[in-house]
Amino acid sequence: MDVPAWPHRHLLDADGLSRDELETVMSLAEQMAEARASREPLALLRGRQLTTLFYEASTRTRVSFEVAARALGAEVDTVSVSLSSVTKGESLVDTVRTLEALGTDLLVMRHSRSGAPYLAARHARGSIVNAGDGWHAHPTQALLDLFTLRRRLPGRSVAGRRIVIVGDLLRSRVARSNIWTLTAAGANVVLCAPRALLAGFESWAGALPPDRQLSVTDDLESALRGADAVMALRIQRERDAGSGLPSVADYVAGYGLSASRLREAKPEVLLMHPGPVNEGVEVTAEVANGASSLILEQVANGVPVRMAVLALLARGAA
Ligand code: ASP
Repeated sequence: MDVPAWPHRHLLDADGLSRDELETVMSLAEQMAEARASREPLALLRGRQLTTLFYEASTRTRVSFEVAARALGAEVDTVSVSLSSVTKGESLVDTVRTLEALGTDLLVMRHSRSGAPYLAARHARGSIVNAGDGWHAHPTQALLDLFTLRRRLPGRSVAGRRIVIVGDLLRSRVARSNIWTLTAAGANVVLCAPRALLAGFESWAGALPPDRQLSVTDDLESALRGADAVMALRIQRERDAGSGLPSVADYVAGYGLSASRLREAKPEVLLMHPGPVNEGVEVTAEVANGASSLILEQVANGVPVRMAVLALLARGAA
């Protein structure tokens, strides 16, 4: 498999990826998916050492990075932060330097502080992959979401499609990265939530390049009208942002996605969610597990997409 030239050493957010670069990731991820389906052995990361360093909980992201790295022949190590010297007060920079001294050349990290991977990247000799930082960014989630949508939409493109993102936008790094990738790929993105969870997003719509389509509303019914896909976001109660936010009961009453609410969308509407899902809060169990749900496809697609990202970074850093 030929991995094209790649100009980036790190993947810190999706905002730095051009439309052509998104296309490169998507087509390499397709090849990775085919190679996995046909059990073709790949050794693009042979001799490389990947470490996952997660200061926050994760199931799908961490495991899929590890599966992806192993599928490419890398050696994989997992740092259990709660058992590491972080509990003795070791700084992030010292932890990065220590892991690199032990041979890590690809470091996949998640941190509760927005910007932490940028600090790590300033001090790292190898590559840093942001697997989620605070409210800021989760670039590989956005890439796998784009990949999932393209595979399911007629014409294999999101261009001109109405994609509605509903939920806890305020605290969502998934939404912030998806806005970049989906609008860059030509989608018409609609953000919908109660006003308190939309804070700051009105100014995004004005700040994006003029060819990008992004709108913001607190009216769920009008947001859903004619939607090709709806991405629900988890209400992130562990990331408390203080008062003024709706209670869970109010949120469900006004914005919970149910089969009847989704009737406003196109009949073939696709339902997505980055997980973990609070069933009965952002989406009913019936919808989350129904025929239009792509939730488990998103999880599965995380592997070929992360394989593509890792192969490109290894090429870029070579
Ligand atoms: N798993 C995603 C994240 O880490 C979404 C979520 O936690 O709700 O941001």
